[in-house]
Amino acid sequence: MTSKPAVLCDFDGTISKGDIGSTLFRRFAGGADWEDLIASWLRGEIGSKECLTRECRLIRVTREQVVELAESFEIDEYFHEFADWCAAEDIPLAVVSDGLDFYIEVVLRKHGLSHLPVFANHLKFNETGIEPEFPYFGLGCESCGNCKGYHVRRYRERHGRVVFVGDGYSDRCALEDSDLVLAKGDLARLCREEGKTCASFRDFRDVRRLVEDACRRWK
Ligand SMILES: [Mg+2]
Ligand SMILES: [Zn+2]
Repeated sequence: MTSKPAVLCDFDGTISKGDIGSTLFRRFAGGADWEDLIASWLRGEIGSKECLTRECRLIRVTREQVVELAESFEIDEYFHEFADWCAAEDIPLAVVSDGLDFYIEVVLRKHGLSHLPVFANHLKFNETGIEPEFPYFGLGCESCGNCKGYHVRRYRERHGRVVFVGDGYSDRCALEDSDLVLAKGDLARLCREEGKTCASFRDFRDVRRLVEDACRRWK
């Protein structure tokens, strides 16, 4: 086994500053129906697959509007540098998201990062709006649209070790099998509440330092 892990990164709120997915639905749906939907997802009453499907039904939005919204978001100042460093060090880096591939690809393209593999739910535009497709559904916990636990285990089989970087509740299933979890925001809180070990980070400068430390330990 090589001492180099693979790094899997959540997208919304981790790579992007702010949550593009939730901003999309808040802006174009908003209102009580949407708030209720999110509340029942947070309470664990519905899985993210059902939540995302129902969110998409609530809105009418065009491809151009989604592009414009996605392009208005900044990404972590140090992410590009981190991606270049991973490439130079032969550390596989991929994006895993329970959001939608379309806006993730818009943002990565804007920043010259289209070469990164993205594992996310698929956004399909139709005559009236959007609908999600779930290419990875059922491969993990049966509740997430795209279960991050599945991708962690898949990368672990191939690369030996996985570092997971995330910030939210949709990262929950990645906790179990990752060799190292780097967390901020709700994910850091969740780790504390559930007694799971994680290291906290503010930006991808910290992430790089923590991955370097881990590579030294794992040598
Ligand atoms: Mg997130
Ligand atoms: Zn899951």
